[in-house]
Amino acid sequence: MEVVRVRFAPSPTGYLHVGGARTALYNWLFARHHRGVFILRIEDTDVDRSKPELTTAILDSMTWLGLNWDEGPFYQSQRLERYRQMAAELERLGHAYPCFCSPEELQAKRAQAEAQKRPWKYDGACRNLTEAERARRRAEGRPHAIRFRVPESGQTSFEDRVFGLLEVEHRDLEDFVLLRSDGHPTYHLGVVADDLDMRVTHVIRGADHISNTPKQLLMYRALGAPEPVFAHLPLILGPDKQRLSKRHGATSVGAYRDQGTLPEALVNFLALLGWTPPAGKEILPLEEMIQAFELETVSKSNAVFDVEKLAWMNSEYLRSLPVERLLPLVEEELEKAGIGSWVSGVGNRQPAVLNRQSTEGLKHTVRLLQTRARTLKDFPGAFRAFFTDEFEYDPEAQKKFWKDAQLPELLETLSGRLARVEPFTLAATEQCLRGLAEEKNVKAGLLINATRVALTGQAVAPGLFEVMVELGRERVVARLHRAAEFLRARLAGRAGATP
Ligand code: GLU
Repeated sequence: MEVVRVRFAPSPTGYLHVGGARTALYNWLFARHHRGVFILRIEDTDVDRSKPELTTAILDSMTWLGLNWDEGPFYQSQRLERYRQMAAELERLGHAYPCFCSPEELQAKRAQAEAQKRPWKYDGACRNLTEAERARRRAEGRPHAIRFRVPESGQTSFEDRVFGLLEVEHRDLEDFVLLRSDGHPTYHLGVVADDLDMRVTHVIRGADHISNTPKQLLMYRALGAPEPVFAHLPLILGPDKQRLSKRHGATSVGAYRDQGTLPEALVNFLALLGWTPPAGKEILPLEEMIQAFELETVSKSNAVFDVEKLAWMNSEYLRSLPVERLLPLVEEELEKAGIGSWVSGVGNRQPAVLNRQSTEGLKHTVRLLQTRARTLKDFPGAFRAFFTDEFEYDPEAQKKFWKDAQLPELLETLSGRLARVEPFTLAATEQCLRGLAEEKNVKAGLLINATRVALTGQAVAPGLFEVMVELGRERVVARLHRAAEFLRARLAGRAGATP
């Protein structure tokens, strides 16, 4: 059996966007499913628009997503000689010819066609030049491109693995350029030469390339070369059913990474943009994806990029990720936010001295919080108070739960009592708080909510008594005291002094 060989061929003219990542992922899944080869090729022949730092960024995003490649990266810019050779070969076979039309001439003809509301396609001015005419132009030193000679009649058809039988009439195609007059290949020439040389068996790419395929097939057929299977992937649309673009918000993989998205979640989400796994299961471990992935089950209907669904998926993954995997990601976020690593003590300030200065302790905290996280940013954000004493009271939380005038005194008393609770357990802290509420004749809810804000700065957090045990007695006592002082200051009209 022939080994499956697929490739992902980004152009480094931008960051890796979600559409490109979906293409890469489908190629990768297909290769892994068939125990084939996944090739990475950088299509950097557009000298003006290609940037090496964008190549680096694309490779980083691929690595972050876990889409490891088996061969490459190959750079088209290093294979220019090969493309020239293939253009010459096509010319020798009579399937290509030199075109001496200057950009100005072509532009003038195009403008004229537009003025007459005629669709423009290259008029074949150089298609039938005699050898003598060509020789004369060469002798004049006129630069020339090489164009492919599209047959005048007939059609080219192919069986797309996703879209079925597709066909185009040759009269609708123009003699497209293979090699520019500066010696650089066009996309078509580079792609066909590379796919042939790299023995690519399946070309899996976005549906925006469907119209390119007949031209490329004409080249394979002109060369008498074996053709790969083509499979085009449905377009990705925004919620307004227009093609996904920056107007819809973040479109690069890097932006999702920066927002605290887990690569596992993004991969799972991308996999479902155009593919429904058997049994319609949405959260799918990678192994299952690899097993189930087939080109025949890719949909031809456009897929809608639903950011809310991605957010949901991200929280599902955060919830179920093994803490060993989550921990380094959380530490990275804490360091980025300048909170400093709890465990290693690096960072730009003193290592936090919360009660569990150990990996085990940090794991415990992360486990407590992970079920509530929507993104990794929640750890240095809404969960900040679990990692450092320097946190602020959320204004909304204050407005909602710090209204009662008795609170300064209540929180101070609670602080004093908790200082003596021994052992400092879930049951004992709860009993202490409820006892106080009863004694002072206030609702336990009032005290619970106010205490939560005092301890975490937030209106929502894990169960209050779990939080207390997590933070430890000393810290709870100090934070309640600090909140009481803050509230007293606020009552006295000296507001604003957040700790
Ligand atoms: N460089 C092309 C792109 O980024 C690749 C097209 C192809 O896969 O053939 O769209």
